[in-house]
Amino acid sequence: MAVDPSSLAIVLYPADVLRRRAEKVPAVTDHVRQVAITMISLMQEAEGIGLAAPQVGLPWRMFVAHVPESPEDERSVGSDPPTATPAPVVYINPVLSLPEGIVEPYDEGCLSLPNISGEVLRPPRITISATDLEGRPFTSRGAGLLARCWQHEIDHLDGVLILDRMSQLSRLRARRAIRELERSAT
Ligand code: ZN
Repeated sequence: MAVDPSSLAIVLYPADVLRRRAEKVPAVTDHVRQVAITMISLMQEAEGIGLAAPQVGLPWRMFVAHVPESPEDERSVGSDPPTATPAPVVYINPVLSLPEGIVEPYDEGCLSLPNISGEVLRPPRITISATDLEGRPFTSRGAGLLARCWQHEIDHLDGVLILDRMSQLSRLRARRAIRELERSAT
């Protein structure tokens, strides 16, 4: 599991690691903490709201997220359950439960799929249980963009990409960009 955190970088589709099922993080060590802190920096540099360990080449069940409040959306300010995080959050060995509500479409992007976005259907409210950087378990309920972010990142831990979930029309629109990524990898 040893990897130099300073060597980590965001990997792009079609890297194999993005298609593997990631493995549980056995213990929250200093090394895991360093990797998580590096992932937060990489996410911020790329202006993303979430980043999963497979996206930096590590098949670990861990992701980071920082979902900002949307000032235009009054519902997001102090909404219950929350739709944003006040600061970056690290989720180790996360598990989702209790999805609720009618699935909603939303145009999702992904840091591993530059220039690609597509409409994905997801339930609007869900609960996440995970371990934090101190090794303590926690449970949160989220809605809106936060709930969507959790589901997108946990998909990454199972080797699932928005390409697998987006509408046929979105996939058709993204066809050229997908092919370009596949070509630049070979
Ligand atoms: Zn993604």
